[in-house]
Amino acid sequence: MTTENRTDAARRPGTADHPAGVLVVGAGPTGLLLAGDLAAAGVPVTVLERRAPGHGNLSRAFGVHARTLELLDARGLADELVATGHRLRGMRLFRRLSLDLTELPSRFPYLLITPQYEVERLLERRARAAGVRFEHGAEVLAVRQDDEGVSLDVRAADGTVATRRAAYAVGADGHRSAVRTALGLPFPGRSVIRSIVLADVRLAEPPPGLLTVRGTGDAFAFLAPFGDGWYRVMCWDRAGERPDGDPVGLDEVRDITRRALGTDHGMSEARWLSRFHSDERQVPVYRTGRVLLAGDAAHVHSPAGGQGMNTGLQDAANLGWKLAAVVRAGASDALLDTYQAERHPVGAMVLRSSGGIIRLAMAHNILQRALRDLLSLAVGHLPPLRRRALGTVTGIGIAYPAPRGAHPLTGGRAPDLPLREGRLYEALRAGRFVLVTPEGPADGSADGPAADPRAVHVTRTDGGRTTLLVRPDGYIAWAAEGTAAGGRAAALAALAGTGG
Ligand SMILES: Cc1cc2nc3c(=O)[nH]c(=O)nc-3n(C[C@H](O)[C@H](O)[C@H](O)COP(=O)(O)OP(=O)(O)OC[C@H]3O[C@@H](n4cnc5c(N)ncnc54)[C@H](O)[C@@H]3O)c2cc1C
Repeated sequence: MTTENRTDAARRPGTADHPAGVLVVGAGPTGLLLAGDLAAAGVPVTVLERRAPGHGNLSRAFGVHARTLELLDARGLADELVATGHRLRGMRLFRRLSLDLTELPSRFPYLLITPQYEVERLLERRARAAGVRFEHGAEVLAVRQDDEGVSLDVRAADGTVATRRAAYAVGADGHRSAVRTALGLPFPGRSVIRSIVLADVRLAEPPPGLLTVRGTGDAFAFLAPFGDGWYRVMCWDRAGERPDGDPVGLDEVRDITRRALGTDHGMSEARWLSRFHSDERQVPVYRTGRVLLAGDAAHVHSPAGGQGMNTGLQDAANLGWKLAAVVRAGASDALLDTYQAERHPVGAMVLRSSGGIIRLAMAHNILQRALRDLLSLAVGHLPPLRRRALGTVTGIGIAYPAPRGAHPLTGGRAPDLPLREGRLYEALRAGRFVLVTPEGPADGSADGPAADPRAVHVTRTDGGRTTLLVRPDGYIAWAAEGTAAGGRAAALAALAGTGG
């Protein structure tokens, strides 16, 4: 960076800073969801994106899991996204292990196959409508912070470097995160597989509906239908590892697929081909003072199980309401530490599960294959194990730690309860806490949460007797049996304690 061409951001038209706002670095799915949530909560937000306008991210993720669809439902986007894709009712992890997604206790009992750019399109539209400012061709180079805020050095497309200022900054700038590097944080881990080949192809003889995954030990292939005649192929050849930059041809994809699956399913016509390597890495801290990391900037893992984009979106949903509460509502900034406490273990779990799937799928010695067969058998025959596997892969089973002595539902995912006012995930569209009380005479006193603007007050109609305080990200902050006024007062106290 040169100092001569550095300008004061305030002098460049259209780049006024928000000292009380948030700078989000990166307009990938994580940054877009986060920016939209912050702006919807009234926080001034600018997204700084290195790419020029109109240059979308490459076709990467293509699977949206049930929990992510629920979070998009809580933003009024899920039904529109579902209409762009194809629903898979089952997922085959290995030859003998399939997960039946219809068992999921969700409004979305499937894996939605749709390209990542569809998710980004909807999130960007929402963010713009909520008032997020986008600056494209804006590359973050350096990060500094003090007691009052964060300064980012940003290089514009014309080469000038300006210093941008905000109360907080979030690095959602992907696996090579400049923000993470500027914070001096390590990104420990290792490469899992080098030279994974990716392609979107047509298949003359398609496999049956499920995702197809199989490894022979030396070759591995994965097929997923987009639902419009195109298939995503991901394959790997133990003997043919090459640098990411080496060209890929359809013949290579056909050859590896044939060796892994016994057939190339009549593969032809690639619309997109690429080669990449897969790492397993996680940053040790998601928060450094006023700077936070989310999505691939905080964790990367093998594409097995299709969890990268999903985990990033869930990071953003966890962080958004907390950051808004601190910036807008004067909540203690200790609330931001719960982002680390809740999401770091989830990131570590995703590293373990996606790493486990890929290693077992590529098993090449007798012991590993025996372990894979045993695991397939156990998951197939033991319902608790199957539920756990389903919950892990789809995100439905994710729960956050609860304080000692809390109601057993605390920290868990709130199901989409039917309400007198509609559904819970519709009530969450207000972006606030939702206080769910059972039907009965005790609701609605003037001093109760119904009168408190921090919570939306609704009544459950499923016959359940538990009062629930649901966080804006769809997790249960507090619960108690019944609707007594004392319970409502306790709910309000809990709300204050969670920064609502
Ligand atoms: C082949 C493949 C298949 C995948 N399949 C799946 C799947 O099925 N399901 C799934 O959930 N995930 C999948 N993933 C992972 C998924 O694509 C990523 O996890 C997801 O894109 C991460 O989103 P993000 O917003 O955190 O980061 P990114 O999407 O990487 O976005 C980061 C953004 O930051 C910008 N940026 C970078 N540096 C700077 C800077 N210095 N200044 C300003 N801007 C900057 C970049 O231009 C980019 O737009 C797959 C990935 C690959 C490669």
